[in-house]
Amino acid sequence: MKFGVHVSKAGGFRNALREAIELQCDTIQVFSGNPRTLRQPKIDEDDVSAFRQGLDKESIGPLVIHAPYLLNLASPKETTYELSVNALADEITRCRILGADYLVFHPGNHVGSGIEAGIKRIADAINKACDMADLTGESGLVLLLEMVSGAGTEIGWTFEQQKAIMDLAKDVPLGICLDTCHMFTAGHNIVTMEGLDEALKELDQILGISSVGIVHANDAVGGLGSRLDRHTDIGKGMIGEEGFRVILGNSMLRKIPFILETPKNGLEDDMRNLATIRRLAQEAVIW
Ligand SMILES: [Zn+2]
Ligand SMILES: [Zn+2]
Repeated sequence: MKFGVHVSKAGGFRNALREAIELQCDTIQVFSGNPRTLRQPKIDEDDVSAFRQGLDKESIGPLVIHAPYLLNLASPKETTYELSVNALADEITRCRILGADYLVFHPGNHVGSGIEAGIKRIADAINKACDMADLTGESGLVLLLEMVSGAGTEIGWTFEQQKAIMDLAKDVPLGICLDTCHMFTAGHNIVTMEGLDEALKELDQILGISSVGIVHANDAVGGLGSRLDRHTDIGKGMIGEEGFRVILGNSMLRKIPFILETPKNGLEDDMRNLATIRRLAQEAVIW
């Protein structure tokens, strides 16, 4: 199986590469710029080419970029919406400079305008941003809608909602990013074989299992259906070691790269969580 973490690019992409190598990541996720702003500084070309060469040399991939948290492609407010569409187009361009395989983003929050209006808004935004950045199916970059917890007015916590977005953005290379914490707190009982099997069957029926690009592996602070988006260490939350053994034993999921987004103060936290998930993957009974 492929495992990786969300690495820090404080100190440049070179630093992200250094972290990835030190942690022995098979794959990584990183922000392309500052996650707390929608206007990004220019990418340093020397830094990017060193990063890219390093990833290729170490065979680290896929390279996943996570879009800034401030993006709201469902916003009913015109200024926020326009800023978000431009920021998504900018992220796509940056991903292509970086040679990224996937760009993950949260679909958006409808902020009271309703799920249906929000879905239309999101799909329009994706179409527009891809048009602005000239992204086609041949570009090699795939956009991934993240399955979210459904906190507040978030859209994208059911497979049907994601399907509705994808149907309205047909010409775009678009897939899904699963997140174990979000799936569980959105109400899928993925910690038992029966529950996970049911969720994956539903996923396959509605979206097709092949639409899943990556899995975010996070334990959950909140309980089943709590809609709480708070990650914790692998094995230390409501999913627990036993839940992760079930998830990591599933033969369909084992083919998909797993990326950790667990809390960290330093590299040792990622190191510990990676060691735990790799151990659980070995202990898991494959089914
Ligand atoms: Zn996310
Ligand atoms: Zn996530």
